Amino acid sequence: MTKRDRVAAYNRITRVLAAVLARGFDQSTLRTGLYGDYIVYPRCSECETVVISGVATHENGCHNDTHECKGCNNRIPVRQDYCEDCR
Ligand SMILES: [Zn+2]
Ligand SMILES: [Zn+2]
Repeated sequence: MTKRDRVAAYNRITRVLAAVLARGFDQSTLRTGLYGDYIVYPRCSECETVVISGVATHENGCHNDTHECKGCNNRIPVRQDYCEDCR
Protein backbone atom coordinates (compact mmCIF):
# COMPACT_ATOMS: atom_id res chain seq x y z
CA MET A 1 0.00 0.00 0.00
CA THR A 2 1.35 3.43 -0.86
CA LYS A 3 1.29 6.23 1.69
CA ARG A 4 -1.45 7.92 -0.29
CA ASP A 5 -3.59 4.74 -0.20
CA ARG A 6 -3.07 4.49 3.54
CA VAL A 7 -4.22 8.08 4.08
CA ALA A 8 -7.32 7.47 1.92
CA ALA A 9 -8.05 4.22 3.78
CA TYR A 10 -7.61 5.98 7.11
CA ASN A 11 -9.96 8.81 6.14
CA ARG A 12 -12.55 6.29 5.00
CA ILE A 13 -12.33 4.21 8.17
CA THR A 14 -12.55 7.20 10.51
CA ARG A 15 -15.89 8.01 8.87
CA VAL A 16 -16.99 4.40 9.44
CA LEU A 17 -15.85 4.65 13.07
CA ALA A 18 -17.69 7.96 13.59
CA ALA A 19 -20.89 6.42 12.18
CA VAL A 20 -20.56 3.39 14.47
CA LEU A 21 -19.94 5.61 17.53
CA ALA A 22 -22.99 7.71 16.61
CA ARG A 23 -25.09 4.53 16.67
CA GLY A 24 -24.23 3.97 20.33
CA PHE A 25 -21.24 1.63 20.03
CA ASP A 26 -19.28 3.68 22.54
CA GLN A 27 -16.39 1.25 23.01
CA SER A 28 -15.60 0.78 19.35
CA THR A 29 -11.96 0.54 18.43
CA LEU A 30 -9.89 0.98 15.33
CA ARG A 31 -7.22 -1.60 14.64
CA THR A 32 -4.67 -2.14 11.93
CA GLY A 33 -5.07 -5.28 9.87
CA LEU A 34 -2.36 -7.57 8.53
CA TYR A 35 -1.83 -5.60 5.35
CA GLY A 36 -1.80 -2.13 6.86
CA ASP A 37 -5.52 -1.77 6.29
CA TYR A 38 -7.83 -0.55 9.04
CA ILE A 39 -10.63 -2.44 10.71
CA VAL A 40 -13.38 -1.09 12.98
CA TYR A 41 -14.45 -3.31 15.87
CA PRO A 42 -17.86 -2.13 17.09
CA ARG A 43 -18.29 -2.61 20.83
CA CYS A 44 -20.96 -1.41 23.20
CA SER A 45 -20.47 -0.89 26.93
CA GLU A 46 -24.07 -1.96 27.61
CA CYS A 47 -24.44 -5.19 25.62
CA GLU A 48 -22.74 -7.91 23.62
CA THR A 49 -22.54 -6.38 20.18
CA VAL A 50 -23.55 -8.73 17.38
CA VAL A 51 -22.28 -8.13 13.86
CA ILE A 52 -24.65 -9.48 11.20
CA SER A 53 -23.53 -9.23 7.57
CA GLY A 54 -21.09 -6.47 8.51
CA VAL A 55 -23.74 -4.44 10.35
CA ALA A 56 -23.28 -3.99 14.10
CA THR A 57 -26.43 -4.52 16.12
CA HIS A 58 -27.23 -3.93 19.78
CA GLU A 59 -28.94 -6.58 21.87
CA ASN A 60 -32.66 -6.07 22.42
CA GLY A 61 -33.35 -3.43 25.05
CA CYS A 62 -29.78 -2.08 25.12
CA HIS A 63 -29.63 1.43 26.63
CA ASN A 64 -27.14 2.56 24.00
CA ASP A 65 -29.30 1.49 21.06
CA THR A 66 -30.30 4.30 18.71
CA HIS A 67 -33.01 5.01 16.17
CA GLU A 68 -33.96 7.81 13.81
CA CYS A 69 -35.50 10.97 15.31
CA LYS A 70 -39.23 11.24 14.54
CA GLY A 71 -38.66 14.72 13.13
CA CYS A 72 -35.44 14.35 11.12
CA ASN A 73 -32.71 11.87 10.21
CA ASN A 74 -30.53 12.30 13.31
CA ARG A 75 -29.58 9.16 15.23
CA ILE A 76 -30.70 9.43 18.83
CA PRO A 77 -30.97 7.06 21.84
CA VAL A 78 -34.06 4.80 21.74
CA ARG A 79 -35.38 6.30 24.98
CA GLN A 80 -35.86 9.68 23.23
CA ASP A 81 -38.46 10.36 20.54
CA TYR A 82 -36.93 13.60 19.22
CA CYS A 83 -33.44 15.04 18.94
CA GLU A 84 -32.36 18.36 20.49
CA ASP A 85 -33.21 20.25 17.28
CA CYS A 86 -36.76 18.90 16.98
CA ARG A 87 -37.83 19.20 20.62
ZN1 LIG B 1 -25.57 -2.03 23.04
ZN1 LIG C 1 -34.67 15.62 14.92
